[in-house]
Amino acid sequence: MHKSSLCRHRLLALAALWLAVIGVACATDTAPDVVLRGQLQGADNHTYREVPFKVPEGVNRITVQFESTGRDEHTTVDLGLIDPAGFHGQQGLRGWTGGSKQLFTVGAVDATPSFAPGPIQPGRWALLLGIPNIRPASKAEFTAKIWFGHPGDPAWLPAVLNPPLRKEAGWYRGDLHMHGAHSDGSCPTQSGGARAPCPLFFTVDDAAKRGLDFIALSDHNTISQANDIRELQPYFDRLLLIPAREITTFEGHANLFGTTEPLDFRLGSASVPDWNALLAQAATLHGVLSINHPIRPNDETCMGCGWTPSKPVDMRRVQAIEAVNGMDALSPTYTGIPFWQDQLNKGLHLTGIGGSDNHNAKVALPMPGGSTAIGLPTTVVHASELSMKAILDAIRAGHVFIDVQGSRDRLFDMVASVGNQAAEMGDSLSASAGSTVRVTMHATAMDQAKAEIIMDGKLFQLEENLAIHGAKQTLSFDWPSDGKRHWVRANVRDAGGAFLIVGNPIYVN
Ligand SMILES: [Zn+2]
Ligand SMILES: [Zn+2]
Repeated sequence: MHKSSLCRHRLLALAALWLAVIGVACATDTAPDVVLRGQLQGADNHTYREVPFKVPEGVNRITVQFESTGRDEHTTVDLGLIDPAGFHGQQGLRGWTGGSKQLFTVGAVDATPSFAPGPIQPGRWALLLGIPNIRPASKAEFTAKIWFGHPGDPAWLPAVLNPPLRKEAGWYRGDLHMHGAHSDGSCPTQSGGARAPCPLFFTVDDAAKRGLDFIALSDHNTISQANDIRELQPYFDRLLLIPAREITTFEGHANLFGTTEPLDFRLGSASVPDWNALLAQAATLHGVLSINHPIRPNDETCMGCGWTPSKPVDMRRVQAIEAVNGMDALSPTYTGIPFWQDQLNKGLHLTGIGGSDNHNAKVALPMPGGSTAIGLPTTVVHASELSMKAILDAIRAGHVFIDVQGSRDRLFDMVASVGNQAAEMGDSLSASAGSTVRVTMHATAMDQAKAEIIMDGKLFQLEENLAIHGAKQTLSFDWPSDGKRHWVRANVRDAGGAFLIVGNPIYVN
């Protein structure tokens, strides 16, 4: 997060008459750290100019937004970026975008195409301006806003790089677990004669074709996919790409969403003796952490897969449990639901989520022993907008249900109310002994299915019939509170008993 310490930074004074540095802004998260302004005139035609700025210690990302006037007169400004080595021969040019991009970022692990990611050295950097055209009598002004990023910043900063794809609140559908070329995802090669690491584009394109609103790209212990995301996200303007990684250890797997910072995963090493140390490290990165497929074997059939920490883990540093993994659709024995519900019974508030764990973007259907399709299951999130921060905030809050079979249209919500309080899935409610809690559910696109209520991990027997008839149905029941602590959630199953929906809990008292 940006801190007030950023306000320390001050620009070097620039003497040239044509350029004045007019401000250093640091009041809010969205204000730039540096603003450079200058003028161009006819004599600048066919020249290059360096506009220097100082990068302080501790910066790991530079983001630039450039604007210039005079386009109506065909004044054109090309852009590049020079690092502290200076631009000499083959050295020092960090990238050149010509006139193609007015907004770009260069970070330690990712950069806008045209630029190379890598360490950001403190010192004198410069925008390199090229002026291919300005008429002899023309004048133009330019402004470059510059934001600095810092280790520990979440992946949604700076905000200028990550505008919401949709600004309205709603239920957004996504897949939170998949692998491509950046880890062990593979697909048939062009000729079909072999398999190759599967290019990330196919994964993203497949998710878009399935109508998903967001996906998390969760390769094993790497964040190299973040650089590809810089290329793909501007094109995929209806599918939010969330950088993630599957922290993959000998004692279990966990997804960490929303950060591109490095993380030491070597459990048992001096720096990360156990999962508690690893979780403490992850907690500084402002992401959301989910334990994946907890009830898998941890043996030669699936090395490190099951959640088998060598020491008791402080689960307060965990935000979510992968209750439904795509592979579990093939082996229901390994569902994460009992593990998740055990944690809820201990008083923890953990969100149940789902992820396909797809390893082959081109697979269309679940295949025995193979990969499941992207979007199977789908995690559906009630978020204030379609942005990385809003989706992750809503997952933290538990405003989520799992669409187990990955439909495009099933919706499910549950609200519990008592007096003038109302709580949706993930929320808490206080209900004194003797008060009546009204629970209301809305089910869409689940004709002939039936809801069931789980309270404190056990099937809750109800007089009410929770059968669903028709495309939209409201179900409700009353529950007399005993004033004690409980959690209540719902599943929906089809006529054959298969899961359609796994809902998240509402916490009572
Ligand atoms: Zn895994
Ligand atoms: Zn995985």
